[in-house]
Amino acid sequence: MKFDTKAVHAGVDPDPSTGAIMTPIFQTSTYVQQSPGNNKGYEYGRVQNPTKFALQNSIAALENAAHGLVFGSGLAAIDAVLKLLKPGDEVITSNDLYGGTYRIFTQVFENFGIKFHFVGMGNVSNIENYINDNTRLVWLETPTNPMMNIVDVRKAATITKKHKLILAVDNTFASPALQNPIDLGADIVMHSVTKYLGGHSDVVMGALAMNDEPLYKRLAFIQNSCGAVAGPQDCFLVLRGIKTLHLRMQRHCENGEKVARYLSNHPKVDKVYWPGFESHPNHSIAKAQMKGFGGMISFTFNEDDMQQSFKVLERLKVFAVAESLGGVESLANHPATMTHGAVPRKDRMEIGLLDSLIRLSVGIEDAEDLIADLEQAIG
Ligand SMILES: *Cc1c(COP(=O)(O)O)cnc(C)c1O
Repeated sequence: MKFDTKAVHAGVDPDPSTGAIMTPIFQTSTYVQQSPGNNKGYEYGRVQNPTKFALQNSIAALENAAHGLVFGSGLAAIDAVLKLLKPGDEVITSNDLYGGTYRIFTQVFENFGIKFHFVGMGNVSNIENYINDNTRLVWLETPTNPMMNIVDVRKAATITKKHKLILAVDNTFASPALQNPIDLGADIVMHSVTKYLGGHSDVVMGALAMNDEPLYKRLAFIQNSCGAVAGPQDCFLVLRGIKTLHLRMQRHCENGEKVARYLSNHPKVDKVYWPGFESHPNHSIAKAQMKGFGGMISFTFNEDDMQQSFKVLERLKVFAVAESLGGVESLANHPATMTHGAVPRKDRMEIGLLDSLIRLSVGIEDAEDLIADLEQAIG
């Protein structure tokens, strides 16, 4: 099946009890057994739930993976992957990560004796300089948040396969509609489902998808043992959201391109970070591994003045100033004080995450209204 058909149908079969075309919300904590162990395969809500199973199958299908797991949040999904490791193990990751990912790595898992190497992955061969006998996992994002750097997943997979490491890719920014890391050789794909998969700013959820059976079993075991499951109501909302993922992403990409080009011609704007520009350092890799360049854009002003950026943000009317991304509504964010507040200023400066940088999640409204809003706000 092609992607658009999978978005509408995958994982969702008519409900056997009624024929309901949409999977019901099975809002139950437990299931009645005829006698102990004599049941229909459903025992307890932390483990089995039909609404959750439908969503897991849908997400797995969208990522061309054999298995899917959904979690209470994106960070809970990241947490489960890190629990594959033990003290002394080492992780190679990029120096340009979602702030919450950086925080769980440095402020939670470093305390458990896991070592993280934060390295530039613009040239992904750089990973090899940090591999040693303790290395277990390579964790990357592409495009990165908020600098929109592109990492060559296929090349990263060649390296991780050679050294028998796990390659995990945070695919939140691209969504499965634009990029499928499993097809490029990744072992685990992670999503903050909160963003494009949910798509309507009404759910917090995470997901993992993978092919390898033992890896899936271990991650499912970790999830059941640690308990970070997603609730049935939220699973239903995401099942509904996914049915329009392909349509939404198409509009996010179209609007993203229009806004990026508008900003790049604005006299007060300095840099515009968007992988669709031919001048983007890894544009050709983005073109090869993505089906579109998405609706996430970051930009800075000629003067790196935080107050000026705050004023622009305060004047926006259609764009809402908010954390998060990937919903139908356009959002604007100030990473230095919001999403990436946990990243030290020195580290931010090194990757170009300046005080004036604004990150946009371009929604699916009319592009002319979005550009007019930026025009009046930037002046
Ligand atoms: C939001 C986000 C996360 C964390 O997901 P939550 O659902 O907020 O826990 C991880 N990675 C990226 C790239 C994100 O944007």
